[in-house]
Amino acid sequence: MSRDTSKRRVKLLKAEEKVSHRYPKLRVLSQAFSLGTLVLVPLSGLARVDFWGDEHRLFFEPTSLKQALGGVIIGIAAMYVLTFLSNVVAGRLFCGWGCPVGQICRYGDAVERPKLTRWQWRWTHLQGGAYSGLFVLSVLAWWVDLRVFYLGSPVALLVMWPLLAFGVAGAFVHGRWWRWDFCKTVCPIGMYYSIMSPASYFGIHFRNQEETCIECNACDNICPVSLPPRELNLPITNRTGLSIMDAPGHNHCLECGDCIRVCEFMVGQAGKPSAPLRLGYFTGPQHQDRDTALDSKE
Ligand code: SF4
Ligand code: SF4
Repeated sequence: MSRDTSKRRVKLLKAEEKVSHRYPKLRVLSQAFSLGTLVLVPLSGLARVDFWGDEHRLFFEPTSLKQALGGVIIGIAAMYVLTFLSNVVAGRLFCGWGCPVGQICRYGDAVERPKLTRWQWRWTHLQGGAYSGLFVLSVLAWWVDLRVFYLGSPVALLVMWPLLAFGVAGAFVHGRWWRWDFCKTVCPIGMYYSIMSPASYFGIHFRNQEETCIECNACDNICPVSLPPRELNLPITNRTGLSIMDAPGHNHCLECGDCIRVCEFMVGQAGKPSAPLRLGYFTGPQHQDRDTALDSKE
């Protein structure tokens, strides 16, 4: 994402904050679910390796390192299978709503919103740092009993605290500067999703029968991965990295809903009754490219 594109995006994010919306609450729930799942499996003892205290767990019972390692590997694989299954029915919805890396990118966006007061700026950094910390701790919990952070020997403390600090700094630096370019060009899971996306029946669709589109281009400007939300049926030819060249925009879409929210905001400000962009199953004549939609208006 270029600097100008990023500026336009964060400006719109700031503007739409004026009107409350259902998505922030939904996002808290979806993030709580995915981070909660990540952390509860090892903390409950369902599967956990403990390289510090040798208290390995499998199915809540003490076990050997070998068996716990098998459980952890199966647990991680099961999570991937779950997200792959969600991809079959709902495309890249996990990218837009459940992925903790995407949430860290959102904190990176939030820090750059214009006209933040000094306290808002600090508070946003603190939130991003806390979320990054939670994420890194939830990953570490699969491999070590977290009590090591206060009960560990001096050597263990000397290893674990810098490891945590390095992980949190890395996560937050990623969200602050690399941000959505990771999802767009490097994420291997995203690439898999792009290939497998069931774009033909679920995703963002542009339905302008009531001619409520005011051509404000806010949807184009807010998209974190630089897609044209009104033209997702068309092939995207200028992707770099691991992206699948010439696949329709739907395959690259994270289904994050940012375009929907800003569209609802813009048409609301213009006094229109409904937004032309929707997220859900395709039904009816909206399954068309934008030129066809515009032609049909004439
Ligand atoms: S097209 Fe809309 S839902 Fe898809 S990634 Fe862009 S902003 Fe998110
Ligand atoms: S944000 Fe909505 S109203 Fe504005 S150009 Fe996009 S689809 Fe049209």
